[in-house]
Amino acid sequence: MEFNEEDFLQLSGIQHFIFCKRQWALIHIEKQWCENEKTVDGQFFHKNAHDKIRHERRGNTLISRGMYVHSRELGLSGQCDVVEFYKCENGINIVGEKDLWQPYPIEYKRGKKKPTLCDEAQVCAQAMCLEEMYCCNIPEGAIYYGENRHRMNVDLNEKIRNLVRESVKEMHDLYTRGQNPKVRKKKSCESCSLVGICMPELFEENTVEDYIQRMIKLEK
Ligand code: SF4
Repeated sequence: MEFNEEDFLQLSGIQHFIFCKRQWALIHIEKQWCENEKTVDGQFFHKNAHDKIRHERRGNTLISRGMYVHSRELGLSGQCDVVEFYKCENGINIVGEKDLWQPYPIEYKRGKKKPTLCDEAQVCAQAMCLEEMYCCNIPEGAIYYGENRHRMNVDLNEKIRNLVRESVKEMHDLYTRGQNPKVRKKKSCESCSLVGICMPELFEENTVEDYIQRMIKLEK
């Protein structure tokens, strides 16, 4: 099945979705947003990655910033922070260039590596878009973490590709139904800018014992 452009979801949403499905739904279905220190900082960081020079050549490498990508198979579209193109014998053609080139997407993140694979999935989704657009194979990408100034290579293996496919399928299903899933309150809620809108404590399951304890406290 192929998606039409009007049904494309935002590629960057996959990172929100894997971090927290409810956060993704609040932002992308309910169109809610709230800034905190981390999100503002992150936007400045991304603006720097995108906005400096759009295309640049360094030796045998071409660097493209803010490149638009899409995939009809995944139903995603978005922008890559940076795509580097390495000169390579079995690479792709680029208009205006006589050599062949291997694309290599790099996602910029303000913080450090997270416990989930949300950042890896984002760079993998970018690579899958590039593969579809250029009919090529991209075995590796990278994430640059600003907090420790570390560039981490990401092996775009079947495991991460399946995570992307399964996540995107669920995102489309939820989006079509307009459904915002309920989730359990977790440690990461403390750093979520949407905690005030989401109110995750309302989803906490209360036992009969909790209820009795609350009633006893109220009566005191
Ligand atoms: S507060 Fe927690 S449950 Fe709610 S959107 Fe944020 S991370 Fe998800």
